[in-house]
Amino acid sequence: MDITYSHLIDGELVAGRRHFEVVNPATGAPFARCPDATREDLDRAMAAAARAFATEWSRDEGLRRRTLVHMSEALAAKADEIGRLVCLEQGKPLAAAVGEVKGAAQILRVYADEAIPRDLLREDAKARVTLVRKPLGVVAAITPWNYPVATLVMKLGPALLTGNTVVAKPSPFTPLSSLALGAALRSAIPAGVVNVLGGSDEVGAWMTAHPTVRKISFTGSVPTGKKIMRAAADDLKRVTLELGGNDPAIVLPDVDPAQVAPRLFWGAFTNSGQVCVAIKRLYVHEDVFRPVLSALTELARQVKVGDGLQPDTQLGPINNRPQFARVQELVEDARRAGGTVEVGGAALGSPGYFYPPTIVTGVGEGVRLVDEEQFGTALPVIPYRDLDDAFAQANRTHYGLGGSVWTGDLARGEELAQRLECGTAWVNQHLNLGAKIPFGGVKWSGIGRENGKWGIEEFCELQVVNAARG
Ligand code: NAD
Repeated sequence: MDITYSHLIDGELVAGRRHFEVVNPATGAPFARCPDATREDLDRAMAAAARAFATEWSRDEGLRRRTLVHMSEALAAKADEIGRLVCLEQGKPLAAAVGEVKGAAQILRVYADEAIPRDLLREDAKARVTLVRKPLGVVAAITPWNYPVATLVMKLGPALLTGNTVVAKPSPFTPLSSLALGAALRSAIPAGVVNVLGGSDEVGAWMTAHPTVRKISFTGSVPTGKKIMRAAADDLKRVTLELGGNDPAIVLPDVDPAQVAPRLFWGAFTNSGQVCVAIKRLYVHEDVFRPVLSALTELARQVKVGDGLQPDTQLGPINNRPQFARVQELVEDARRAGGTVEVGGAALGSPGYFYPPTIVTGVGEGVRLVDEEQFGTALPVIPYRDLDDAFAQANRTHYGLGGSVWTGDLARGEELAQRLECGTAWVNQHLNLGAKIPFGGVKWSGIGRENGKWGIEEFCELQVVNAARG
């Protein structure tokens, strides 16, 4: 409890004037104190970001590319230390936590070399018309608790490459790794270009209403995304919203159950199900329903749930007490609705927020576990007979982040995948993302895209430069 972290404001580590405790979900006990930004801290960070934007930073592409390389190196050098913090505050296994930080360092390196698009629209005797991309200004980056470092870096990379400056605020459940990232990158970044504030939800709300902010890049839940869009409206701030999902996976009768089951299992339960694009509803053709179900329940029985610091842990705890309560509530609701808990279904008696992988059958549309985003270790498995009906059920939702089709016929799978109403439609896999592959949702799952050239465009304004000739 004696570990105290600082904000990063204008290149300085700034001690908090007030604090809140950060809990290790594996023990349920607080282990560190996070500074809780005041309005004054926020104003200072915004002013620093605005000042930094007005420097050569927004005009000197070479400086920015060099900075991204230095940031990548600085982050990679601290991967073990920051990864350990991710494990302590988020709960995931240590190897996965360190892997998240190493992956984040690679993402920064990728952006150092990404092109900023520039189009020659017309060139003739009369005019030369060029379309250029200009940075927007100060970006508010607001992130959730499931992949605290990865989600932040997915914003920092394109925002900085294109010449913006950033004020970032991580989730109050997992703030320390972002603050440690700020401290680690401090010497690699010109003062004020990146500012990181610890803070509650309220600080996020202040940020989205702050007059300095020109762009809000948000990853989090649908209800918060809607609030942010409302807050942005008055000032016409640009928004990118990466929101929740309730991804369906549809398994056709021509699969080999033993082969697909492990991929389905990890598609649903990676990071203890706390992945925006995890499989959250599994529709299995009745011909293979029993073998797929029994292979999944067997995997659920075998998997090692525990403290992420233990080397043999495969699944850590649920990240926080409200989410832990929510997962239990959804399973109890499914039971009341007549569902059968095939495996799991009760919290482990330890002090942390441990809930083992839980598979529920006998539920369908109208039951909360199917209709809502569970974001945890509980999966409904639903048999179907008619494929059209399975797609209709899969698409009958406000969500539209990811989805997948599982079949022995790849070409047919690619066709069928396009019937899913979502931003990413996988075939025979789920969760596979890439720094150069656009990622985002349709319907309530979001607005805009992250990653690759599409993500870069989200941090730019288009400007036409139209020069007369002759
Ligand atoms: P959340 O919406 O509760 O919080 C996310 C962030 O928003 C936190 O930093 C929080 O402090 C801040 N915040 C809360 N209220 C705010 C307000 N009124 N104004 C501004 N900021 C505010 O989400 P969470 O519970 O931390 O994360 C889980 C959700 O995130 C799930 O729905 C998950 O699917 C989603 N998610 C989406 C993606 C994606 O890329 N689409 C990735 C990861 C997680």
